[in-house]
Amino acid sequence: MSTKDYLEKDYYKVLGVAKTSSQEEIKKAYRKLARKYHPDANKGDTDAEERFKEISEAYDVLSDEKRRKEYDGVRSMPGGFRGQQGGGFPFDLGDIFGQQGTQTSGTGERIGDLFGGLFNRGAGTRTGTRRPRRGADVETDVTLSFGRAMEGVTVPIKLSSEAGCPSCRGTGAKAGTVPRVCPSCEGTGHETRNLGNFGFQEPCRECRGRGLVVDDPCPVCHGSGRKQSDRTIQARVPAGVADGQKIRLKGRGAPGENGGAAGDLYVNIKVRPHRLFGRSGDNLTMTVPVTFPEAALGAEIRVPTFRGQPVTLRLPEGTPNGRTFRVKGRGAPRRDGTKGDLLVTVEVQVPQKLDDQTREALLKLRAAGAGDDLRADLLQQARQE
Ligand SMILES: [Zn+2]
Ligand SMILES: [Zn+2]
Repeated sequence: MSTKDYLEKDYYKVLGVAKTSSQEEIKKAYRKLARKYHPDANKGDTDAEERFKEISEAYDVLSDEKRRKEYDGVRSMPGGFRGQQGGGFPFDLGDIFGQQGTQTSGTGERIGDLFGGLFNRGAGTRTGTRRPRRGADVETDVTLSFGRAMEGVTVPIKLSSEAGCPSCRGTGAKAGTVPRVCPSCEGTGHETRNLGNFGFQEPCRECRGRGLVVDDPCPVCHGSGRKQSDRTIQARVPAGVADGQKIRLKGRGAPGENGGAAGDLYVNIKVRPHRLFGRSGDNLTMTVPVTFPEAALGAEIRVPTFRGQPVTLRLPEGTPNGRTFRVKGRGAPRRDGTKGDLLVTVEVQVPQKLDDQTREALLKLRAAGAGDDLRADLLQQARQE
């Protein structure tokens, strides 16, 4: 049951009861009429059948306290939906559709409002003086090389948006013409098919749910009222952004309407990995190979930094494989201008090819008995389990 149904149909009259009738009186009236017009008692009589449907529909609404209240509410609006009776439109159509109407006086402006309200519901364009609306937030992906992400960069971002066609101001009608209210659905944008006691609502086929029909389509937008517009904005990506970070650029989203603020632009950052350096928060990470003697005896090793001078790292005697050393201030830039650290992890290498000298040295190491008992503890513990 639509609002339009409510406005057009006088259910009290159908049941022959007063608006002030009690539920009991309504029930009584319904039973009497239902008996009289019941299809079983009127075989083949289409008028009676039609009447029976009306009675049932009226009773469905009036016998339900909540729906009756709704019905009374809709019908108590002065003038009603179609508005012709009082001259002009006593209330803004926008109200029916849950939108903010403008308070204007004078019939001419009302009609403007009528169109405004319908457009709001349909194509989403705005005409006339309506409430300011914030523009939509827009989201986009940007892929950067590791280096550009570290340095910060300004990237051009192309944004496509649908806006109202400027030529017809979103009406879809050729300049100098106006769309008319769809005669098929009378501007509601939907039609109701009644099947027995049930009403099915479908978008109006005539106007495709817009509530308006255009006789002379706007040549620019071909009657759609919409225009695809592309714009390129320069987005500043701060130095040190990491993969997966989302940057909010305030006010760079879709423009607002009627003086509303623009939406925000969200940039999803993707950073291509670097061959040597990784990221861990504000820190850069790196793995460096060291020899067994370097790790065992201790050493000073030179390690690269990201786009800076190499630094010397002092490995203490007996450095285990996998230990991580911190080089202060050689990481990724932070917002406050400071930098994270460089985390260097050592990886002890086993020589793949041995020359005679190295082989001899290793044999000597073995003969010295270093590490002979390495697994003794392990075997013993496994037995105890
Ligand atoms: Zn229609
Ligand atoms: Zn147009």
